[in-house]
Amino acid sequence: MDPRTIDFFLRGYGMDPNLMDTAVRAMERVQRAQAKIESLVSYNQARVLEAFHYARVSERCLFGSSGYGYGDEGRDVLDRVYARAFKAEAALVRQQFVSGTHAIACALFGAMHGRDMLVCATGAPYDSLLPVIGKPGAPGTIAGMGYPVGVLELDEAGTVDIPRLREAVSKSRSVVFIQRSCGYEWRPSLSVSDISQVISEIRASNPDTVVVVDNCYGEFVEDMEPLEAGADLICGSLIKNPGGGLCTSGGYIAGKAELVELAAERLTCPGNGSYVGSNAAGYRHMYQGFFMAPMVVGQALKGAIFASRFFEEIGFDVLPHFSAPRTDIIQGVKLGSPDRVLAFCRGIQRASAVDSFVRPVPSDLPGYDKQVVMAGGTFVQGSSIELSADAPMREPFAVYLQGGLTTQHVMLGALFAAHEMAKGELLPVADAEN
Ligand SMILES: *Cc1c(COP(=O)(O)O)cnc(C)c1O
Repeated sequence: MDPRTIDFFLRGYGMDPNLMDTAVRAMERVQRAQAKIESLVSYNQARVLEAFHYARVSERCLFGSSGYGYGDEGRDVLDRVYARAFKAEAALVRQQFVSGTHAIACALFGAMHGRDMLVCATGAPYDSLLPVIGKPGAPGTIAGMGYPVGVLELDEAGTVDIPRLREAVSKSRSVVFIQRSCGYEWRPSLSVSDISQVISEIRASNPDTVVVVDNCYGEFVEDMEPLEAGADLICGSLIKNPGGGLCTSGGYIAGKAELVELAAERLTCPGNGSYVGSNAAGYRHMYQGFFMAPMVVGQALKGAIFASRFFEEIGFDVLPHFSAPRTDIIQGVKLGSPDRVLAFCRGIQRASAVDSFVRPVPSDLPGYDKQVVMAGGTFVQGSSIELSADAPMREPFAVYLQGGLTTQHVMLGALFAAHEMAKGELLPVADAEN
């Protein structure tokens, strides 16, 4: 927050000078942690560029196709770019995935072929996947198709229950599902190295196990992706990290070629698989978004590091701590009351470039069982690589802040969130003594 930003912008919104001082102190404290992100970004940028070279991306690839999309070069080369960058045999990158949930669902339905059971190793999966797993008897769901589903709860430190996992996989030919990011749970996310250890245990108990990782929010946050840790498939959303803020919809699946094709046959149908599917709008934004993604993720991470220190300084519990290693772009802030959650989200919305004047309210969402409040006036609807905050309206009233196409925008958003809480006299008392 340099003085001109404060004079020109923040004073105009009536922001408390104490909050601006807190922000300046937080900025100074996080400089070293933010500087580490630069070397991550340059390494991942190099990986992505190498993938573009390897796949021989040409100008022709940027244009669209129509109808069946037979021989659509833009589509096929984009698959090769993702596969190379994520160290996969094959990848399926499609605008036709309507959400990350859809991509994960196709990956799981495909992978279940010929398997005995599904084991969720990281507790109940993300809320929107619960209807996909379903219940025995529920048509079209994994459980409804007759597969037993085992859910192994994580302990408070977010550690996987290895003894029970080993027992489960040793007795069956299972698919193990691992979620890298914490979702709406107040627990640490699993690093790629944590995932690697879990996968070694699985392989030691039964090498014939398929491991699927929900990689949402994780892409480019580390210098390795879960396929390098031994996973068979990873999946994610293009309106999160790998879309670089430019993709307007879609998802991806990458990993073992045979499993990617089984998933493609779920997205389309047997016989069509990955070979059919056109995109009249073209692929420019998908290529450019992937090219920009390492940098954009870096911007979001530097913003999250600032927000972590800033809200900690104000007096809230934060997860992760600003100096801790990260494996996803999520910054949890435990606010402790519904009033604060709503004020925080009003602040993030107020700071958005689009729809800054609307007021976020909790509502029911398809696939989520608790009411959720979501803030984010984004260029792409629901995009969470753009600055956004979500909170399920339940204990411990934590808000999950993520994204931000520029670090500066995240910093301004954090100030607005604190400002909205201050206006409602909702900040912890300790702050008055600063
Ligand atoms: C975002 C996300 C998903 C997929 O959610 P969509 O809203 O369907 O894209 C799945 N798992 C995790 C952990 C996520 O963060």
